[in-house]
Amino acid sequence: MSSNSESRLQSVDGFEFARAVLEDMERYRVPPTPNNFELWAHKAADPEGPVALEIARLTAAGSPLSNSVLDDLTLTFVPQVKLNQQLRDAGEDLSRELAAVDEAVSAARKSGDVYSETLQFASDSLDSKNPEKTLGETISYISDATQIMQRQNNALRSRLSETTVEIERLRTDLEKVRRDAKTDALTNLANRRAFDEELERVCDLAHSGLINLTVAVIDIDHFKVFNDTWGHQTGDQVLRYVSAIIRARCPAPIFASRYGGEEFALLFPGETSDQAHEIMQIVLTDIEATNLKRRSTEEALGRLTMSGGLASFQLNDGPSLIMERADKALYAAKANGRNQLVLAEGTRARES
Ligand code: GH3
Ligand code: MG
Ligand code: MG
Repeated sequence: MSSNSESRLQSVDGFEFARAVLEDMERYRVPPTPNNFELWAHKAADPEGPVALEIARLTAAGSPLSNSVLDDLTLTFVPQVKLNQQLRDAGEDLSRELAAVDEAVSAARKSGDVYSETLQFASDSLDSKNPEKTLGETISYISDATQIMQRQNNALRSRLSETTVEIERLRTDLEKVRRDAKTDALTNLANRRAFDEELERVCDLAHSGLINLTVAVIDIDHFKVFNDTWGHQTGDQVLRYVSAIIRARCPAPIFASRYGGEEFALLFPGETSDQAHEIMQIVLTDIEATNLKRRSTEEALGRLTMSGGLASFQLNDGPSLIMERADKALYAAKANGRNQLVLAEGTRARES
């Protein structure tokens, strides 16, 4: 689910949001299947986003929202559905290949059995009373059987090498699917799922006292106004631009992700909150300093700012506690007038 609709469903008014989604589905006479619900949650979370626009376009054109139209929409707009489809396809391809190999191997085994029977028969006739009589026949008999065996071996060899190529292709496809599952399609940064996994991993290290850890959550200020003024597509370009700055300023081992719509979450393993603060301040300054321009027309779009919260790992912290403190600090940065970073309570004290 897009992190936007996901976070709406997880929020305090989650049930209210879900009810509104269902009511809207009923209005459109869309069957309340899990996939359709997910699609409609995207639509509701971002009324001017691509899903909502596409549905508006279809209904304005008078196209009925048939099951196949809905399937196409979920395949296009709900990453998890697309991913499941890709995994299913890859699984089917793989079992087809394995069945073909199985068939080829059984055929080879059968012809191997026939061949050894042939040899046995030949050896029996050579042992028999008057071998001279059968020697010529036996040799040609063995030679025929050997030729058949060779042909079958060659066929098997080429079938196996085709299968090797096919399985290699499937492996590459699956690797890509796995990578896509952890990547945000718009910005190419890690997505929330990848972030959550990495957060858990580094929290374990921090918990064992092996590393320092600071988490930062940054969010674009007044981005709704920007979108309303300049349009969603231009908003998307800005998200790409912000991601490029983050990528440039936060090399590994810093782990940067698009956590939600216009919110980014970063992990600074091994760094103190001061070091993390310094790097995040550079990102915020870069963004604030940019005179944004529309790419196609060079039209000036003004400037944007960001706010952020930082929290460093405390004794007894876990993934959700440290995120909660970083979120609270972000909220404080917004409340203090935005365009600033706030350190969570206790964050500096422990390290100094
Ligand atoms: P604040 O300073 O309090 O963060 O205000 P805000 O307007 O940034 O925050 P709010 O949560 O009210 O709105 C977030 C907006 O971000 C809503 C939506 O238009 C925009 N947004 C979220 N995801 C995307 C996206 O993928 N693309 C675009 N273009 N806009 C998005
Ligand atoms: Mg915002
Ligand atoms: Mg936000």
